[in-house]
Amino acid sequence: MSIKAENIKYIYSEGTPFKTVALDDINMEIKEGDFLGIIGHTGSGKSTLIQLLNGLEKPTEGTINVDGTTVGEDKKKLSKIRQTVGLVFQYPEYQLFEETVAKDVAFGPLNLKLSQDEIDKRVKESLELVGFNYKKIKDVSPFDLSGGQKRRVAIAGVLAMKPSYLVLDEPTAGLDPAGRNELFAQIKLLHERANVTVILISHSMEDIAKLVNRVIVLYKGKIHMQGTPKEIYAQAEELEKIGLGVPQVAQITNELRKRGFDIKQDIITVEEAKEEILREVRRRHV
Ligand code: ADP
Ligand code: MG
Repeated sequence: MSIKAENIKYIYSEGTPFKTVALDDINMEIKEGDFLGIIGHTGSGKSTLIQLLNGLEKPTEGTINVDGTTVGEDKKKLSKIRQTVGLVFQYPEYQLFEETVAKDVAFGPLNLKLSQDEIDKRVKESLELVGFNYKKIKDVSPFDLSGGQKRRVAIAGVLAMKPSYLVLDEPTAGLDPAGRNELFAQIKLLHERANVTVILISHSMEDIAKLVNRVIVLYKGKIHMQGTPKEIYAQAEELEKIGLGVPQVAQITNELRKRGFDIKQDIITVEEAKEEILREVRRRHV
């Protein structure tokens, strides 16, 4: 089971002076169980790409295949694909509109014409999956929640559709550092417990380095690099060239290495950096 993108090109406003090639030559595969980060600057094509993954938009060229079904080939299969690939848009809280949290989360499942029992079960499960106490939250108005809580309700609404793939477009945009950390921790738990493949979009390397197991770097609509976070961070100069920073710990260890410290190259956590620096300092003082 996987999502495959082959030779994707996407052009906005073709045939007008505003023509923009948003994506070009995109080939990638997202495998079941992945925790994938898609990173790139504003305008690099991230949001365009994810709207192609569930058939919301059609590529100008190329094909998307979701679990063996080519998107767009059979119109009847489109709603199934939309359900399989759940999209959480940027600032999803703007899409909350019901008077209670439970009603909001139930909105998608209601459209699937499920039994009331099944709907209630999904609403409860989804809210618990994003870290809420169901009884306490279900009758609260979404408008009385904090920014981070609203995002979690919006994510629960997509989870209630039981997607195999959950795509989150810059889920922490605009949150304060505490809200951001909390939401990232929740997303990590979700990937571990909910049996869902997670695709996390971000413009910040630092934010998602510790979470994901694979990174795709988009640059000007093309896949510029892909690999594990460690493989990507080892190419610090290439990242800097395209204006994407490496995490501060990697900056420090790269700088120390330039100054002759014998420490390894692919460090992404503070803990690893600490061990490496201590080891080198001890080595120098024996
Ligand atoms: P990102 O999500 O990485 O910021 P987008 O996918 O939103 O990137 O944008 C990719 C490119 O497509 C940019 O050049 C952007 O200006 C352009 N673009 C995005 N949406 C539209 C649109 N609706 N009409 C025309 N151009 C667009
Ligand atoms: Mg975007």
